[in-house]
Amino acid sequence: MEKKTLCPVSDEPAELLASEEEFVEIECPRCGQFRISRTAFVMVKGQSRGDRETLLNKARRDAQGGVGTPFIRNLT
Ligand SMILES: [Zn+2]
Repeated sequence: MEKKTLCPVSDEPAELLASEEEFVEIECPRCGQFRISRTAFVMVKGQSRGDRETLLNKARRDAQGGVGTPFIRNLT
């Protein structure tokens, strides 16, 4: 069963694909599919939109050439 949530990067309605102890997995129409740690999920709300997109872009680069799922682990 899919759940709705708000994308932590773009604040748009998104699907909550997985809700794990350490992270959640999001499918956003704008941002695509990615994971974000629960810590980052809370902290990212205080970031500007531009800073959040930078974090996601960094996670994409770290995701082994687009094969892996981008994972925003922290805000650095
Ligand atoms: Zn998004």
